[in-house]
Amino acid sequence: MLIFISLIVFLLFIIFLFIPTIYYIPSKLNLYRILIVGGTHGNEPAGYYAINEIYSEIKKYNFPFEIVLIPNVNKFGLFFNLRNFLFHDLNREYGWSFTNPNNKSTNNHFTNKIIEPIIHSSDIIIDLHEGYSYNRINENSKGSTLSGKNIPSNLINLILKNLNNNITRSEKKFYYLEYEPLPGTLREIINEKQIYLLVETTGQNNIQPLYIRTEQMKNIIYSVINWLLIRSNITSSLNRRS
Ligand SMILES: [Zn+2]
Repeated sequence: MLIFISLIVFLLFIIFLFIPTIYYIPSKLNLYRILIVGGTHGNEPAGYYAINEIYSEIKKYNFPFEIVLIPNVNKFGLFFNLRNFLFHDLNREYGWSFTNPNNKSTNNHFTNKIIEPIIHSSDIIIDLHEGYSYNRINENSKGSTLSGKNIPSNLINLILKNLNNNITRSEKKFYYLEYEPLPGTLREIINEKQIYLLVETTGQNNIQPLYIRTEQMKNIIYSVINWLLIRSNITSSLNRRS
């Protein structure tokens, strides 16, 4: 009996440690679906805190679009403050398929398998990460940059305006960065109708206090929500969800 109970407790612990949390904020109108993911790299925790705070602040609102929040993609890594899930970099294992010759990632972690269908059914995807230095100081790190795919320029401008308003030092201000495709990253499975925003704060090893990075991420998320609220009322060239 004791062995049985121990086994159940152990299995519950494994599930707790391995399966990402998914919050849904449903919508009656359901014009679009926004997906916000954080904690893909376990040593980049601000996304986890930003998403949990955002969820508690907005969960009672009825938006004209659905919001899906995954604060802890790499639950294992967050628990142990490690980039990878054991030996797996979860942002190098998207899109792996026997049948799709375009996908070049060499593996597909079960976590990616859980999240990929949600990515494919979303119109806007916000992916929260943290670099180890300011990109303006060290170009090897993507800290304090935005990048992505198919982002309308007025959305980028709105995010940067709201975000940089609160940042005084020029080397710490965010800007939009174009960079080369990287096989197996979330960016590579985004299609031409989806908007993908990759956020990189400067945050690894607490190079800036956690509360600053968390606030920066929340600022970005609220800019996207506001942009989408305005857009939902006026016009829509995005795919309307049926
Ligand atoms: Zn990362």
